[in-house]
Amino acid sequence: MIDRMKGYFNEEKEKMSKRKREAYLKQRLSEILRYGYRHSKSIRSRFDALGLKPEEIRNFKDLERLPITKKADLVSAQKANPPFGGFEVMPKKGVRRIYMSPGPVFEPGEWDYKDIRWAQALYASGLRRGDVVLNTFNYHVTPLAFMLDESLQMLGATVVPVGPGNISMQIQLMRQLHVTGFLGTPSFLMAIAEAAEGMRFDVKKDLDLKAAFVGAEMFPESLRKKIEGKLNILVRQAYGTVDVGCLGYECPEKNGMHIPEDVMVEIVDTETGKQLETGATGEIVVTPFSKTFPMIRFATGDLSYLVEDACPCGRTSTRLGKIMGRTDQVTKVFGIFIHPWQVDEVMAKFPVVANYQIVVTRKDYRDEMTIYIELKEEVGDKISLKRGVEKEVQEVLKVKGEVIFTVKGGIPDRAKKIDDRRIWE
Ligand SMILES: [Zn+2]
Repeated sequence: MIDRMKGYFNEEKEKMSKRKREAYLKQRLSEILRYGYRHSKSIRSRFDALGLKPEEIRNFKDLERLPITKKADLVSAQKANPPFGGFEVMPKKGVRRIYMSPGPVFEPGEWDYKDIRWAQALYASGLRRGDVVLNTFNYHVTPLAFMLDESLQMLGATVVPVGPGNISMQIQLMRQLHVTGFLGTPSFLMAIAEAAEGMRFDVKKDLDLKAAFVGAEMFPESLRKKIEGKLNILVRQAYGTVDVGCLGYECPEKNGMHIPEDVMVEIVDTETGKQLETGATGEIVVTPFSKTFPMIRFATGDLSYLVEDACPCGRTSTRLGKIMGRTDQVTKVFGIFIHPWQVDEVMAKFPVVANYQIVVTRKDYRDEMTIYIELKEEVGDKISLKRGVEKEVQEVLKVKGEVIFTVKGGIPDRAKKIDDRRIWE
């Protein structure tokens, strides 16, 4: 299957040497900063407030000197200065669409869509000229489905703009139109595969699907395995946000998500906004090189880390590792930050643990942390398991907690991994 994917979209750019890449990014960064300063009211005011000029930000590290824009800042800027908050630069041809995403945040859709980042992602997922692709992302109000639609055109693929819902119609379309590609959420693809099986199709033979591009939701490896096994296809994911577009995409090697060339991605300390070293987990902060809606140091609220080592696919870009969760899932206990992924790390060492939940409470002005654990099966020596988990928690989280075993089903499936029940008066 990998063979079919030889030859890359925009190969020259994706495979440029580290040195060339650095020079390219530096040049694009200074270009967008200058452009933003000249044409975007909001960006100019940010520089002016600091007494800085765009020429003073010369490289990646210098970006730290600029403030971070959070989604909440964008929402309030847009309320004060509707509809786009003064970030926008009105192109001569005007705005083709006005999109809205939760917040609400309004985004201007450019007349001629030129951003190639999603197209790069689609290409890396295995889609090619001539493919017939079911786009099940929502074409209603938000931009993702439209961006992908335009990007499929760049590849030379044909789109079936079906949107989500109506699973049996999706299956029928796949059969009638000999659909070879799928775009949508992984859970929706799984639902389609299961429904097709329920309709007594041999999903490996009766569907022509060869590649699926998924996103907009967490995508655990276990789900990927299930879908790839069921359908005998490759499933690759990309990561991005509706405000700033594509920020990373998997290649056939699936070892992290390649950061496209036309965006600068930083991983920063959520408290200080300072850049973290490669490999350390922090918030994804981005500066895309979009000239319609320039955004400088936009904080995504998602947590990840950078991977620098070479990828066998030949792309030389830095990669984003796994998305580790949201910054707002971080909880402070005894003054120490606890992230859900740290708890995952602990529990991965105990295969007998089926499900867990950490509950933080407060008693007599002191934090208390309880780790509720549901087991896959009964174990003989619960006491030493309890001690083992508690020791590991202390080591990884640097916080003491007490393990309590619950009955099967005692922790609801959708329960928050870290449930903060402290009441502050
Ligand atoms: Zn790669």
